[in-house]
Amino acid sequence: MSSDFSAEEYTRYSRNAMLPEVGWEGQARWRAAKVAVVGAGGIGSAALYYLAAAGVGEISIIDGDVVELSNLQRQILHNLHDLGRRKVESAWETLTALNPNCRLNLHDTRLDAANIRDILKENDLVLDASDNFETRLVVADCCWREKILLVSAAVGGFQGLLLVQDPAPGHPCYRCLLPQPPSETKPEGILGAVAGVMGCLQALEALKLLLGRKSDLTHQMLAYDGLQCRFRHHKREKRPDCPLCGKGK
Ligand SMILES: [Zn+2]
Repeated sequence: MSSDFSAEEYTRYSRNAMLPEVGWEGQARWRAAKVAVVGAGGIGSAALYYLAAAGVGEISIIDGDVVELSNLQRQILHNLHDLGRRKVESAWETLTALNPNCRLNLHDTRLDAANIRDILKENDLVLDASDNFETRLVVADCCWREKILLVSAAVGGFQGLLLVQDPAPGHPCYRCLLPQPPSETKPEGILGAVAGVMGCLQALEALKLLLGRKSDLTHQMLAYDGLQCRFRHHKREKRPDCPLCGKGK
């Protein structure tokens, strides 16, 4: 399986392949994988860096914003030269400079119920690194219906959350945890390093899932407290009355 790697790839990925859990077979799985990342902001910056560095073959980046000065304390894909540019273009430039082996599909748009299926349906796995509950629910609903694995991460203040939605029967969905978006959310401070921790964890969970490994986060939510440097797991149950996956749905 490994024989068609180029000399450049053998050198670039040698430390991945040395891991018995990965090997060249795992590297080939990553190279064949199609992954979408929703959001090229604080969490998405870290996740995209590590997915591209690891050698994921095809990555779709979805973000409809432009780079602003106030983004730079956490969104490490972008720099001063990118101010005013589309985030997807800035992300493309940074990631291509890191690993030109990755094919990058750019979607300069905000996901909604009308466009989401076409953008996500061809992917093996989706990482939600968006910054609002409406998008998180639209993404989770689409991944559930299209039977795509989802790794969802969120941050606020010094806190971070991470969970995996596995569309296989018997697993809870995102709406089992959060049936509807909260009625009111106000902007919070975010420290870049906290978003980076969650983006790294999200990328790692995605890479393991792409190897065919099971995740402990399909029935649990990981909560990170960056102020106390503490990780906690919270059990997630399937809700019989869930609006998406409940009985009769
Ligand atoms: Zn559910």
